[in-house]
Amino acid sequence: MYQASPLWLQRLYSSIPFDWRAGRVYRETRELIRATDYLTLGQLQERQFQKLRELLVHCQQHVPAWRKVMLHIGLNPKTDDVLTGLERLPLVDKSDLVANPDGYRATYAHGELVYKDNTGGSSGTPMAFVKNNSMYPRELAYMLAQWERVGYDPRHPKLTLRGRTFSGLNTDQRWVFNPIYNEIALSTYHLDTNTLAKSMKQVRRVQPQFIHGYPSAIVAFLQVLLDSKIAIPEGIRAVLCGSEPLYDHQRKFITDTLGCRCYSWYGQSECVILAGECEDSHEYHSFPLYGIMTLVDENNQVIQEPNVEGEIIGTSLHNIAMPFVRYRTGDRGILAQGGCVCGRQYPRLKQVSGRAQYFIYTREMTPVPATAIIFGQHFAAFERVRGIQLVQEEPGDLLVRIIQGDHFSEKDEREILDKMRHSVDLKLDVRFEYRRELPCNQAGKVEFVIQNVCPPASVQPDSDSA
Ligand SMILES: [Zn+2]
Repeated sequence: MYQASPLWLQRLYSSIPFDWRAGRVYRETRELIRATDYLTLGQLQERQFQKLRELLVHCQQHVPAWRKVMLHIGLNPKTDDVLTGLERLPLVDKSDLVANPDGYRATYAHGELVYKDNTGGSSGTPMAFVKNNSMYPRELAYMLAQWERVGYDPRHPKLTLRGRTFSGLNTDQRWVFNPIYNEIALSTYHLDTNTLAKSMKQVRRVQPQFIHGYPSAIVAFLQVLLDSKIAIPEGIRAVLCGSEPLYDHQRKFITDTLGCRCYSWYGQSECVILAGECEDSHEYHSFPLYGIMTLVDENNQVIQEPNVEGEIIGTSLHNIAMPFVRYRTGDRGILAQGGCVCGRQYPRLKQVSGRAQYFIYTREMTPVPATAIIFGQHFAAFERVRGIQLVQEEPGDLLVRIIQGDHFSEKDEREILDKMRHSVDLKLDVRFEYRRELPCNQAGKVEFVIQNVCPPASVQPDSDSA
């Protein structure tokens, strides 16, 4: 509604102080983070266990699948030790939730409105789920608390390079100004010399102090500016990299090019764990009152020691509409050793490897982050898709392999086709192939993108691991 309103109304609205516009849940969450950031480990755990008990009692009372499990193993979250209780619960993954969506959805969300979201399926399995409405302002509060560590304030102008389509604008306008976040957003579907030469005139007027976006898009953007001898933005205080892992060579390239801090964090649409760098280190500090994080090995045993890689398991402490408990994120991480000089007693990951970075190439070989094509747009059709894989053999041509779920129809194919093609001004042909299963790579995993187009030397997002 906000984005559809006229610019003068957006500007008027943006004159209200940010904390007030963002609402009560946002303010309370910011206050909670400030009050608990430097608590002792014992104090943090006490708060965390209290939240966990509330969540598990809610699951017992209102979430059929979890009530059944608790009855079966004899767990009473009202009286039992909740931490050991949590570890007795089975791990669940996407396929469990896809197979039984009603079972894992709360029959009662304490009067809160809920909304639908989905994951795009970087593991080949899209998943639809619900969140209570308060998840959005809460997420915003946590995100801005992280960015504040590198000097960001919502009043500071920023440049955004994320998934967002620019339909409805003039054909050559590939930027949009958004007063609510004081940001100028550039299209990540049009990272070519001509478009950027025009857009950068607007960017210079806004004088951004921060850049926020996908690392793949930020690197491609800076590379085009360098190659085309377009002036690099000056006065950038930090670059905020999310939605994809940030590779070491990308961090170095961004830092060297802009001469500022490159900041990253790790999170998921499911909102089970949020972990970001601090003022002093590049390790990912997991907010203990946002979600409970553990790592498990191949035998599903909890990993306590540092420097051992395992799968990240998260329990979201806030999504009462569909609680994610002992949820397999599919991402891998390594615990950091000792404490951090910042003084926070948060669990930390020294490394995270999540969704891989890929580009899809248009007919003119303009690289478009796969993150923007898939995750930057909402596809209602993904609710009816059991598996998805993108294959590119030639620039401008994309094969979409799909395992159909129940009720998948031509309308769904049309939605996927239209959104993918229109985001890049029809410079991509999209074909479909329906399968019973998706081919695995040599390691036995389904790759989300199989990219066989040879990229130009300047854009190689996946040349090392995060
Ligand atoms: Zn720290």
